Amino acid sequence: MNCEILCVGTELLLGNTVNTNAAALSGLLAELGVNVYWHTAVGDNPGRLKEAVAVAKGRADLIVTTGGLGPTYDDLTKNVLAACFGRKLEYHPEEGEFLKAWFAKNASIRFTPNNLQQAYLPERCTVFHNDWGTAPGCAFEEGGVRVIMLPGPPNECVPMFRACAVPYIRSLAGEVILSHQIRVFGVGESAVEDRLRARMEQMQNPTLATYAKVGEVMLRVTAKAPTEAEAERMCAPVVDMVKAELGDAVYGVDVESLEALCLGLLRERGLTFATAESLTGGLIGARLTALPGASAVYKGGAVTYCNEVKAGLLAIDRDMIEAEGAVSYETAAAMARGARAAVHADLAVSATGLAGPDGDGVHPVGTVFVGLADGENVWVRELRLGTRRERVRALAANHAFDMLRRYLQGLPIMME
Ligand code: AMP
Ligand code: MG
Repeated sequence: MNCEILCVGTELLLGNTVNTNAAALSGLLAELGVNVYWHTAVGDNPGRLKEAVAVAKGRADLIVTTGGLGPTYDDLTKNVLAACFGRKLEYHPEEGEFLKAWFAKNASIRFTPNNLQQAYLPERCTVFHNDWGTAPGCAFEEGGVRVIMLPGPPNECVPMFRACAVPYIRSLAGEVILSHQIRVFGVGESAVEDRLRARMEQMQNPTLATYAKVGEVMLRVTAKAPTEAEAERMCAPVVDMVKAELGDAVYGVDVESLEALCLGLLRERGLTFATAESLTGGLIGARLTALPGASAVYKGGAVTYCNEVKAGLLAIDRDMIEAEGAVSYETAAAMARGARAAVHADLAVSATGLAGPDGDGVHPVGTVFVGLADGENVWVRELRLGTRRERVRALAANHAFDMLRRYLQGLPIMME
């Protein structure tokens, strides 16, 4: 099924609103195995919307619209779509009653009769009730083209897509579309592609696609089959093939992130963890504490930006830092050991380096040392992470979590 996402709203064209709906729906459609081939954004203008629908109708099997379902004069998506597909709008009394009740409950918002426009939908459609706002969405099929209409606000559009459009699309397929996400750290997207490209090109069902994320790569395996068990059976050898090809760089399948994996592994093993951060300024701790359940494993950490604080809080010999430099193997090692001892944790990670744009006259910008200490050993990775400050910091945090997960998975901690 080939899909066009058609986002309606003048604010998108003026640059006032970023078209996050297109991105979010694309991700969800990809998970369903739907090929999104076009993103179109068009203003609240009936003539141009009509032209955009005519083009979409000619090339897509599925058109998903967002925006323009509200009660005001510029909300014209339903009228234009209905006209383009030769349908009338009809009043849905149950949606009308819902709207009246909604306004009665939300006493601060006055009900005006134009609100009932939202209860008019194209005839013979499937109604998508809106549990997150007021305007319902809908779906219908005409002449072999499926249309799904969703409201514009992302906090309504995205949950409605999940709750209503996903089961609708699944039911159309008459088959199960199942996908698994293989997460890879430490091998770049081009290297992954290089190793898998020939096989990826030959695959039709299941398919295998790569997606670059900050400092990591995600591969998605998607199979279509009459049953879920059959789809699983088809995905399994592809997942195994990727694991065999990429080895330890595969950190998980269907896991949320490196830090989520680490949290799970630490909990399983009943281990606690601490951080000592310089260039990342608390990013490692923040990423871990963003996850529910972090308190079971994370004892705390220190942001030790200058040398006095590194020495003071982490009980590191000041002369050593002066002699070796704050950006050094020895300092990273001492920071990890110091954090572990300071908070009585089983494990600690550390990060020290140059996020840029200024260097220190010794190391190039992007030089980072990331450490990991347990009760006996300490490991330090020396890295060159480029020159973009945000990226250097994010990658340093990724490396800290990668070292931790390798330790917990019993793999070699240093990368070759
Ligand atoms: P509408 O349903 O057209 O009344 O849209 C309501 C609000 O949703 C707009 O004012 C925008 O703030 C937001 N919105 C509409 N379309 C999008 C989109 N494609 N991506 C993100 N936000 C949107
Ligand atoms: Mg609008």
